[in-house]
Amino acid sequence: MFDYSDESERKAQEIRERKAEKPVRKIKVPKVLAVVDQAGCTGCEACVQFCPVDCIELVPGPQFPDMAKMVEIDVDRCIGCKACAKHCPWDTITMIPSAEAYAIANEWTLRSVLKPEAVKSGEKIWSAAE
Ligand code: SF4
Ligand code: SF4
Repeated sequence: MFDYSDESERKAQEIRERKAEKPVRKIKVPKVLAVVDQAGCTGCEACVQFCPVDCIELVPGPQFPDMAKMVEIDVDRCIGCKACAKHCPWDTITMIPSAEAYAIANEWTLRSVLKPEAVKSGEKIWSAAE
């Protein structure tokens, strides 16, 4: 049987390369940041179109790239506008005070395309932006 997990990893790598080309947040850290609880995310992508800075990434499914998808928010690029949280039909995005957002993102990120090795090794993947 064709191994679709290779295709998933290829797509994840494309996302990482695209993200590396995006500008980083220039303003100071907002009061609140968006954090997605991936356990409740259906991968419906409704939130993606509302993000003005394009910092919501679609995570391909682990075995089949187009199944069991979910999103990951690049917290370092989030400007705290709340648009995604307002439009998520499943209420799975929460605006968290920025001092706590990175710790919560650590807990709620089940699958990461942005820092996959850290997730695999169980290390903390997020730390407060400077
Ligand atoms: S709060 Fe705004 S900037 Fe942050 S992820 Fe949501 S839509 Fe994007
Ligand atoms: S709108 Fe909500 S459920 Fe849909 S992809 Fe975004 S975070 Fe996930």
